Amino acid sequence: MVAGARAASPEPDGALTVGILDLQGDVAQHAAALAELGYRVRLVKRPADLDGVAGLVLPGGESTTLSMLLESTGLFDAVSAATAAGLPVLGTCAGLVLVAREVLDGRPDQRVFGLVDIVVRRNGYGRQQQSFEAEVPFGSGEAPPLPVVFIRAPLVVSAADGVDVLAALEGVPVLVRQGSVLACSFHPELTADRRIHAMFAELCESYAVETQSVGPGRPSGARWLISG
Ligand code: GLN
Repeated sequence: MVAGARAASPEPDGALTVGILDLQGDVAQHAAALAELGYRVRLVKRPADLDGVAGLVLPGGESTTLSMLLESTGLFDAVSAATAAGLPVLGTCAGLVLVAREVLDGRPDQRVFGLVDIVVRRNGYGRQQQSFEAEVPFGSGEAPPLPVVFIRAPLVVSAADGVDVLAALEGVPVLVRQGSVLACSFHPELTADRRIHAMFAELCESYAVETQSVGPGRPSGARWLISG
């Protein structure tokens, strides 16, 4: 187990618990999406709430407000420590801003976790397009396009070589992954397509296996399956 990691334990029924940052923003829809996939959800309001979670969603909202609240609750340092130990993260919209390396047009005192080597521009899709819907190619050639909803979305200005661009709209990355961090400039919780949450779920499952020691009575290589 990586130093600093807080073991992600499954419940007796095998379901993992996934945390959702609950300081401000779009929490309920993420909770519903994860519950639909068979996860237990923990609303994370203080550092102790991170104990035992297999992943953390940073929802949309307002990244400047989230930054302030993360500081005042002590969660900024706690989340930084947990992610340094490998805790998977799904950052959506304002959550993408929070995981970026650098933010343009942010507040000077706005803090970010710097988990994904991207530069983003807050509200970068501009005023006339504050909210819009589109579809982007996603997955293998056969897979249906991914419906995407943008609400005052951040624009990914650049992505370093180590960043996987998993979906793009007009050449601009809208879904990126670096290590166990997945981030998108749109709101996957607002459509019925669960492929983004399912992809995040896979990262959570791997993390849960990595942070548990395989002891006697537990077959090596066993995975906890998600119920439902
Ligand atoms: N514009 C917001 C920000 O900068 C993000 C909007 C959203 O999350 N829907 O944080």
